[in-house]
Amino acid sequence: MILCKNCSNPIQYNGEQYLCSSCDLNYPINNGIIDLSKNLDENKTYYPEDSFDTLYKIEEASFWFKVRNTIISQTITRYLPPPAEVIEVGCGTGFVASAMHKLGYTVDCADLFPEALAFCMKRNAGRHYFTLNLEERIFVEEYDAVCAFDVIEHIENDLLALTNMYRLLKNGGYAFITVPACPSLWNAGDVISEHKRRYTMKELSDKVEEAGFRISKMTYFMALLFPLLYMKRKITGNSLNDDSCLQDIKDDCLAQLNPNPLVNKLLYTIFSIEPLLLRHMNLPIGGSLLCVAQKKERTK
Ligand SMILES: [Zn+2]
Repeated sequence: MILCKNCSNPIQYNGEQYLCSSCDLNYPINNGIIDLSKNLDENKTYYPEDSFDTLYKIEEASFWFKVRNTIISQTITRYLPPPAEVIEVGCGTGFVASAMHKLGYTVDCADLFPEALAFCMKRNAGRHYFTLNLEERIFVEEYDAVCAFDVIEHIENDLLALTNMYRLLKNGGYAFITVPACPSLWNAGDVISEHKRRYTMKELSDKVEEAGFRISKMTYFMALLFPLLYMKRKITGNSLNDDSCLQDIKDDCLAQLNPNPLVNKLLYTIFSIEPLLLRHMNLPIGGSLLCVAQKKERTK
């Protein structure tokens, strides 16, 4: 059930568009993308929009995206075996969504940017494609799972985003979340990526619980490469002095995700040990956090 953002009554699909019969607001479909909720503040930056094309080109080969997908996939299948209805919010180019689709899940792709959703469609990752702003309220109790992988750190009011994710779920449904961890790792790369913060385990736990969830699993990952990451981050530093420096840091961030093939292979081999470890244990430190949380409402 999709609720009207204007009047909170259910909206219906009439064969061409979604329509609210209570207040007559319509939600157009453009190039297959359903424009449910997108009120962007022009003065705010949300995500570097030009990065989707680059991401789309590097994700398939990058050690980071490949192993992160393995970690995400094995976690989701453990808590919620396919088939199940899943929505990925902030899905970007659909690299994770397409992996979930291949595992047998029904995936709806939602992102702030239609440019990102166009790549999801190219990958045939989803059932429906929505533009969605997590800082607005729209869906209520629909999905078995909601996924947000490296998304909420981009959102000023992350608690509101988590609360909206909670509303997207059936009772008993799961949220799967990853975020950058360790505020001490903060550097210019976070600024370039439009991050609002990096999380401690406590901050993420507190906010997830405040949104109404019960935490099923919380662990760090990107642990084995942590010393390397830490050194790299400290060398890069926090300063963003001028435009040339900005471009250097952008290039550097990209190079970290997409190193030369030999280094990529080496990092992949080391990082690939983590999914095996995570099957049996939580990791005590790392550059990222993985959280599984469940919507469990008390029966009246
Ligand atoms: Zn309405």
